[in-house]
Amino acid sequence: MCLWQEPSRPLCNRPWHTQGFLDFNGEHSYTGKVRSQRLTDPGFNEKSGQQPVGLSMDWLLAFVKVVMRRNTRQIQVGSVAVGGTAPVSVQSMCNTDTRDVAATVAQIHDLEAAGCELVRCAVPDQAAAETLGAIRSGISIPLIADIHFDYQLALDSLKAGVDGLRLNPGNIGAEWKVAEVVKACSERNVPIRIGVNAGSLEKPLLEKYGHPTAEAMVESALGHIRILEGLDFCQIKVSLKASDVRRTVEAYRLLADQVDYPLHIGITEAGTTWSGTVKSAIGLGSLLLDGIGDTLRVSLTGDPVEEVRVGWEILKSLELRERGPVFISCPTCGRCQIDLIDIAEEVERRLHDLPLKLTIAVMGCVVNGPGEAREADLGIAGGQGQGLLFRNGETVRKVKQEDLADALVEEAWQMVEQRQKETS
Ligand code: SF4
Repeated sequence: MCLWQEPSRPLCNRPWHTQGFLDFNGEHSYTGKVRSQRLTDPGFNEKSGQQPVGLSMDWLLAFVKVVMRRNTRQIQVGSVAVGGTAPVSVQSMCNTDTRDVAATVAQIHDLEAAGCELVRCAVPDQAAAETLGAIRSGISIPLIADIHFDYQLALDSLKAGVDGLRLNPGNIGAEWKVAEVVKACSERNVPIRIGVNAGSLEKPLLEKYGHPTAEAMVESALGHIRILEGLDFCQIKVSLKASDVRRTVEAYRLLADQVDYPLHIGITEAGTTWSGTVKSAIGLGSLLLDGIGDTLRVSLTGDPVEEVRVGWEILKSLELRERGPVFISCPTCGRCQIDLIDIAEEVERRLHDLPLKLTIAVMGCVVNGPGEAREADLGIAGGQGQGLLFRNGETVRKVKQEDLADALVEEAWQMVEQRQKETS
C-alpha cells in the first residue's frame, strides 16, 4: 500500500499529510530521486485490496523512517526549487549596505561557503536597486530583492536580474502598480514571496482582531494571495513571521491547512545568536516535524553566516538534510579526566566545514564513551590524561590528551580522502 495520497488510511489527522519522504539506509536525497520512492505495506494484497489485520512489523519499522512533509506546489527561485519534493532550502539576508557592491558580494560569498542557498538583499532606494545587477553577476546563488511599498523598486530589481521578490502586493498601492510588477515577474518567471510580519500588519486587521494575532496574520496573507491569484499569478511562497514561537507556529499551522503554496518559515527578530538560536530551533523544529516548511531563514542579531549554520543544524538534527559532520559530545561529569570541553570545541571548530557527513563522538570516559565512539565514524573515549581513538567502530590506539584534537582532525580528513577516492 502506498502511503502517498492514501485517504483510506490517513497517517495523522492533518488531511494534507499525504506525501512521505523515505530515508533508505540513512541516505537522504538532495534531489527528488530517492524521495519519490514509495513505501509499501508488505501485508497489503494488491489484487483483492484487502488490508492486513493490524500493521505488520516491517511496515511499522519502515514507517518510523518516514519524514512526512506537507504537499505543496513547487516554484523555482533561479536555480533553486522550493516546495514539492525539493529539499528544505536554507536562506539568509545580507546586513551590508546593498549599495556597497563589494561588501555585499563578499558577505554573500561567506554565506555561500556556509551553505546558504538563497540570499536576500534590502532594496530601500533606487541606488540599491541599481546595484543588484552587479551583485547578481558576482555570486552564484539566487538573489532575492526585498521591497516595501515602492513598485518602481520592484520593477528596477527585476530589470537588474533578481531571481525572486519579497513584496506584499497589498502594500504597494494602486492595482495597476501591482499588475505591472506581476506582469514583469511572469515574463521573467520570477516568484514573489508574500512576507507577513506581525509588526507591520494592516490597520483594519489590527482593529478587527485587537492585536496581531495568528488569525490576523493568516487573514493578511490570504488577502495578499488573493490579489496575486486575481492577476493569475501563482508563483508564490508565503511567510508569516512573529517574534514569538507560539504565535508563529500557530499562524503557519492555520495557513498550511488553507493553501498549498510553499512556505518560507522563520521566527522574525528572534534575538541574539544565543536566544535566537533557541527560539528558532524550537519554532522551526516544531513546524518541520509537522511537515510544514519548504525553505527557512533563521533571523539572528549577528553575523548572518551564523543564521545559515543554525539553519543547517536544525535540518541536520531532524535528519531532513545532510551537510558535513555530525558532532556528538558528552556534557562531562566527575568521571571525566581529560580537558574534554576544550577538545570538543576545538574539533568542532576545525572540522565544521568537512565536505562529507561523518559522525564524530568526543566522549569523556569509559562509561558511555566506547559505545558512542564505536557507533560513530570516528570517536574518542577519555581516560586518565589520555583517550582511546576509535575509527569505524574499531579501537585504533591510545592518544595523549594534548594530541587528541589533532588525532581526530587528521583521521577525519584521511577518512574523507579515502571516501572521495572510493566514490570517484
Ligand atoms: S561519558 Fe563519562 S564523562 Fe561524559 S558525561 Fe558520561 S559518564 Fe560523564
